[in-house]
Amino acid sequence: MALLAPGCAPRQPGDPLTPGYNVYSPEQDVQLGREAAAEIRKQVEVVQNERLQNYISALGKKLASHPAAGEYPYEFTVINDGSINAFALPGGPVFAHSGLIEAADNEAQLAGVLAHEISHVALRHATSQASKANMIQLPAVLAGAAIGDQSVLAQLGQLGLGLGVNSLLLRYSRSAENEADALGARIMAEAGYDPVEMARFFEKLEAEGGSRAPTFLSSHPSPGNRVKNVQAELAALPAKQYNAGTAAFPQMKQIVAQLPPPRSSQQQAANANQPAPSGAPPAAFEPLQTDRYAIAYPRGWRTYGDRRSAAVTIAPQQGLVRSASGGVAIGYGVVLSYYQPQSRNLASATNELIGQLQSLDRNLRVADRQRRVRVGGSEGIVTYLSGTSPYGGDETDVVLTVARPEGLFYMVFVAPSRDFSRLEGAFQKMLDSIQFRRA
Ligand code: ZN
Repeated sequence: MALLAPGCAPRQPGDPLTPGYNVYSPEQDVQLGREAAAEIRKQVEVVQNERLQNYISALGKKLASHPAAGEYPYEFTVINDGSINAFALPGGPVFAHSGLIEAADNEAQLAGVLAHEISHVALRHATSQASKANMIQLPAVLAGAAIGDQSVLAQLGQLGLGLGVNSLLLRYSRSAENEADALGARIMAEAGYDPVEMARFFEKLEAEGGSRAPTFLSSHPSPGNRVKNVQAELAALPAKQYNAGTAAFPQMKQIVAQLPPPRSSQQQAANANQPAPSGAPPAAFEPLQTDRYAIAYPRGWRTYGDRRSAAVTIAPQQGLVRSASGGVAIGYGVVLSYYQPQSRNLASATNELIGQLQSLDRNLRVADRQRRVRVGGSEGIVTYLSGTSPYGGDETDVVLTVARPEGLFYMVFVAPSRDFSRLEGAFQKMLDSIQFRRA
């Protein structure tokens, strides 16, 4: 399935690396990242060790001084969390889990992950992906216009970002991964670290699999052949002698080994074992009116988003699950939004959307049922997908698509597969209740 816009030929080693299509300004990236970082800092346990924080900060800033990293206000923070992960927010905040430092064999590998994250920032991948999905309300919401006192959970849920199949800020495309590896290699080389160590570390994580590795890999999907690609990229650069890393690195590993157990580990374990909402199928429904449509949703479920939001999430309590990376997944609930397809034909536009969702979540499979429906007087298609539930086990995602003048309207209904049969009636009721407003 063709997932990329036409005209996006794959880049060749040595090709220039520049940010792609983006409706945001770099200043908006900075503001967006700053707001989100403040929320994330409230929700994670930042390591209270000055030496370790100073070390990661100095290492990160040395790498970010490469001209290609841009003029962003980079900040590097270690989170006390044993899982192997690192993530960057638009405009400069980069977070590394203590588990990443523990897992790195040498300083070059740690530098490699930071250089890779810096590259995502410099190439503006997160807002570029959000731009392509037409999430134009993102900066306004995160800038506080419509936040009130909602938690980041609610904000992210409001944006539809949390949905496993739609977590645009948290899962990069494979071509973005390829670019981040290529630019990361140049940044590393400039700072004196062997770039192959970055690719070697990612391949090590891929080979390990298991319960610890996938956190990083689920948001940074492998573009394949990472070592080979980085070597090809290096061949296009002047040859260079690399250093072996500073003496501080083994000391930092020691500090990490002696950190207190993460406070959040209990909470994360609780999340992992958090039961999906259960009980009787929803009986009573309430109306939700937006500027574009009206829909009925199960009473007691909470709506995230206001009437002007292009993306609305509706979920029961416990329907949103926080992941170890500080992201949010919808395990149970509904996301309503719009997608701007290339095609005006409903079936092709639906396939574009499904392809987009699959490019963001490689666990997502189309189950072989697809049916035509009438929705509020318009023609629609219902597609059944299966994926992996944040509660564990399989997940069923039912995607309703309707071609509308304002774009492809879609509703994704998410539930653990084991509960789905009991919820199918609620999905049908929501579908039947949809009324579009005249554009
Ligand atoms: Zn990446």
